[in-house]
Amino acid sequence: MIAVLKHGTTPQQTEHLIAWLRSMNLDVHVSEGQEVTVLGLIGDTSRVDMELLSSLEIVETVKRVSEPFKQANRKFHPNDTIVQAGNVKIGGGYFAVIAGPCSIETEEQILEVAKAVKESGADILRGGAFKPRTSPYAFQGLKDEGIRLLLEAKKATGLPIITEIMNIRALDLFADVDIIQVGARNMQNFDLLQELGKTKKPILLKRGLANTLQELLMSAEYIMSEGNENVILCERGIRSFETCTRNTLDLSAVPVLHELSHLPVIVDPSHATGKAKLVPPMAAAAAAAGADGIMVEVHNNPACALCDGAQSLTPPQFDELNRRLRKIREAMQ
Ligand code: PEP
Ligand code: MN
Repeated sequence: MIAVLKHGTTPQQTEHLIAWLRSMNLDVHVSEGQEVTVLGLIGDTSRVDMELLSSLEIVETVKRVSEPFKQANRKFHPNDTIVQAGNVKIGGGYFAVIAGPCSIETEEQILEVAKAVKESGADILRGGAFKPRTSPYAFQGLKDEGIRLLLEAKKATGLPIITEIMNIRALDLFADVDIIQVGARNMQNFDLLQELGKTKKPILLKRGLANTLQELLMSAEYIMSEGNENVILCERGIRSFETCTRNTLDLSAVPVLHELSHLPVIVDPSHATGKAKLVPPMAAAAAAAGADGIMVEVHNNPACALCDGAQSLTPPQFDELNRRLRKIREAMQ
């Protein structure tokens, strides 16, 4: 349920109303926009007398929120959420380009790619240290050592960094990581989501391989319901009957998620298509569809990459893509 307060309501009046609602065992989420303040009520609202609440002098409207996701819902928070990672903002008109290798392999590799993507204008550096691989015999990532090398690349370039967590036991290693990624395969690892919700770190939550957008938003809700509102949603392609691409990029996810939620939405065309040549057109389409950013894999030598070489751009290809994205973003303004 949401209660929209009238323009001109004083902070004391708002506090008083919140205290009353809390006395009914409800959690109250406050969203203060430029125009209106919205109170989002979470918990068993069946006993709230809607008539009584609507009749209060400071209350403009009261509505039930039928969707099961509440804190991620745009009705709870009409303005776009802007997530900040280091000095980079994502969402609400801020577009972020995240680039880097699928996996951190060696010091030379991550430093070379980090410097190249920074030079081309990337905002955030990616690199996997804990890799969720289909085969237990495939390269699993450098783990602790990978994070150490990624932190070195952060120091060398000043770029904020993002890397994936697979197990909450590794959380201490992420202390200086700017954004923690939850991969597609862990989108419904609810214990992991709840533990990440207890941190204040920005979380990039990828859509599961066969999950609906509502399920993605319910997973965001698991993080937010523990107190962490810094969630970025990521469309990375879903399983379909199509075999020409690794997954099927559901670009309609961008406007749909923007309508349903206030959280930033980014697109990963690398895992969506699986082919480097398809990455630039799909990244461009994502920007044109209104995404708040893209995440692409870049490798200094894709042919020798230990993971996902076929979908990795070379630094010059990434440079070209970034120029194209800037033009699209300019044209959209
Ligand atoms: C990744 O971004 O490194 C990754 C493994 O992606 P996904 O979880 O989308 O497969
Ligand atoms: Mn990858």
